[in-house]
Amino acid sequence: MRRKLAAGNWKMNGLGADLAELDRLCAAHPAPNCEMLICPPATLIHRAATLAEGTALRIGGQDCHAATSGAHTGDLSAEMLRDAGATHVITGHSERRADHGETDAIVRAKTEAAIAAGLTAILCLGESLAERESGRTLDVIRAQLSDSLPEDFSGETLVVAYEPVWAIGTGKVASLDQIAEVHVFLRSQLLERLGADGDLIRLLYGGSVKAANAAEIFAVPEVDGALVGGASLTAADFTPIVTAL
Ligand code: 13P
Repeated sequence: MRRKLAAGNWKMNGLGADLAELDRLCAAHPAPNCEMLICPPATLIHRAATLAEGTALRIGGQDCHAATSGAHTGDLSAEMLRDAGATHVITGHSERRADHGETDAIVRAKTEAAIAAGLTAILCLGESLAERESGRTLDVIRAQLSDSLPEDFSGETLVVAYEPVWAIGTGKVASLDQIAEVHVFLRSQLLERLGADGDLIRLLYGGSVKAANAAEIFAVPEVDGALVGGASLTAADFTPIVTAL
């Protein structure tokens, strides 16, 4: 049975004062029905992890470098994130792919580094609007999945997040049919690759998830939770999403 996951990605938002939102979140969900994760900016990981000790909240990073250490100014290794208190890390977010030229090969190396450091990787993929409009969605998803999946992974170490690029931060949610089509496809690809173990990998949807649409999205086949941007920034917005799972 796959444990549901409500994951928040704060992106480049959040100062120390915003940690109060995490206190509120922990207070609202002492024993949630799902796993509850917030990925704040790296500057807040240690403080957030300290605050979350003894609660149901887990803290993750938003990116890691593929190397364990070395001359990479400004980067953070997966081991450093773990050392700061993170249990998870997002890899391959479309904003990293777009802003930093991350290819599937880079994403795969980062995902492998995350798993090697003992983190659970949340591997993101999704098609652009042009790719969807030209009918190539499933081909793009198939290629991204096969080229960015690490060699070795399990339901403990890997989560896959489907985030259609055109639905991120736009208020435009994919339709329930579109979400179902891609999630069922991802599941079939994972079963093909891993056999029965493919059923253990959690699949998240991301892209303009909010309180008003969370429950219907969570009822879609093969959706095991959400990766939430804007609506994860405050406890007031994120709490009903956690409750809906
Ligand atoms: P929004 O929920 O703001 O659309 O962002 C989704 C996302 O990119 C989460 O990683």
